[in-house]
Amino acid sequence: MSSPTFSRASSNRIETPLTWSNRLTALGDGFFTHLQPSPVAAPCFAACNTALLAELAWPEGIFDESHLQAFAGNATLAGSQPLATVYSGHQFGVWAGQLGDGRALWLGEANSAQGPQEIQLKGAGRTPYSRGGDGRAVLRSSIREYLCSEAMHGLGIPTTRALCLVASPEPVRREQMETAAVVTRVAPSFLRFGHFEHFSAQNDLASLRTLADHAVAHHLSECHERAALWQGNVYAALLDLVQERTARLLAQWQAVGFCHGVMNTDNMSLLGLTIDYGPFQFMDAFDPEHICNHSDHQGRYAYGRQPNVAYWNLYCLGQALAPLIDDRDMTLQVLETYKSLFPRALGDAMRAKLGLTGDLAPEAAREADWVLVEDLMQLMAAESMDFTLFWRQLSQAVLQQSQANSVQPEGWHAVTDMVLDRPRLWAWLERYTERAGHGQFARMGAQMLRHNPKYVLRNHLAETAIRQAQGGDFREIDTLHNLLKSPFDEHPGFEAYAQQPPAWAAQLEISCSS
Ligand code: AMP
Ligand code: MG
Repeated sequence: MSSPTFSRASSNRIETPLTWSNRLTALGDGFFTHLQPSPVAAPCFAACNTALLAELAWPEGIFDESHLQAFAGNATLAGSQPLATVYSGHQFGVWAGQLGDGRALWLGEANSAQGPQEIQLKGAGRTPYSRGGDGRAVLRSSIREYLCSEAMHGLGIPTTRALCLVASPEPVRREQMETAAVVTRVAPSFLRFGHFEHFSAQNDLASLRTLADHAVAHHLSECHERAALWQGNVYAALLDLVQERTARLLAQWQAVGFCHGVMNTDNMSLLGLTIDYGPFQFMDAFDPEHICNHSDHQGRYAYGRQPNVAYWNLYCLGQALAPLIDDRDMTLQVLETYKSLFPRALGDAMRAKLGLTGDLAPEAAREADWVLVEDLMQLMAAESMDFTLFWRQLSQAVLQQSQANSVQPEGWHAVTDMVLDRPRLWAWLERYTERAGHGQFARMGAQMLRHNPKYVLRNHLAETAIRQAQGGDFREIDTLHNLLKSPFDEHPGFEAYAQQPPAWAAQLEISCSS
């Protein structure tokens, strides 16, 4: 898939302390096209993630002037082997055929304290897979991706990471003229369900097998052990493992009110990471039908539908892997397990939000606890309660109640004041108290404050950082990053960032345009 319009020549090459593995390149030419990024004018760092740098034990020098040029796409890091990969996928429930890295450029796999990490530039120019797109990303959506990756990580949710954000005054046309930016993303692997669908759809079983073997050998080696559950079938184990990770991921999304917005199969990570931040949203007012993406007219990716969509997507992956598994019944049997895996994972996540963890959450209480969760969620929906605020207030109220000798009615006011139908919430609080016992409240409250974040990346917070950055001031990005990387901490003085959205936020429309 090479094309004369894309430069294969090495541009300005710079030295780097990074050392590389680049195992993906061993897959061969059918999987990608080598090419150089397209330069942007006058780049500058809008954000540098020193926390991630420390986690990976990469040297600070990576944020120097010459690396800035590399992260802008104006230079090549020595040892990197830039390429764009090909994948296909189902978009909005329809087979879309070939897609691929239309604006992401894989630089290589750099060694780190956390093992080899793939590095990608998002927005580094056109590739053979750009399909008419400009290969660029705008500052607006790049700020959202940078902040949300790190917010998810702060919440303990698996995600691709963001190493830095480079801004350029270069114009990019969307609904209106905007400016370009490049996010440097990091993940152990950027493989998507769509990579497997691509080769399966072409009936290229040799490539499909090569890809699956690569994934198992380098990223999902647990499959070898897990194959014992599937008569030694390592590809069934692969589907099983991806399914388990996806189920856990979805449970975590649901538990924090995260809506992805574009859960197409090409946006589903093989490693169960949150990937491709577009029109995502952390819900403000709780509504199970909430649609965050204004282009999603049918509500296919509404909050409440995400777990089923994930299953639908896993089915696509199952179909793609079926020729390798080579046992139809086994493939179906693996897929069937999602139906118990996901509810279990969600149940655990929601129980943890109620402080019911460890020996407070015995197996026998699972069903009764779920009724408690569902009743509360119904009440929250009926009252359009602010999702994040309610859970946090409840956590705090439980902790405060623990300081009295018994449950005090006035100790619940912070939460009962949030609803119109107070008797209904009172009744629920009574059942909840009865379930756990006041004696457990200290321990539960402390747990709850570690499972119910104070800070999430609400749309209006991102928007404020975007507007300031568009005016040349990037400081708000750092402020938000600081709060969101430890979202369970109180951060005194920053309470305004934990409040409901202001009235103007209702006008915000988030679409696929990025
Ligand atoms: P997304 O909906 O962002 O996951 O993108 C779907 C497909 O379109 C992927 O193959 C992207 O690489 C590609 N794409 C999205 N935006 C652009 C763009 N501005 N230029 C080139 N390709 C793009
Ligand atoms: Mg995508």
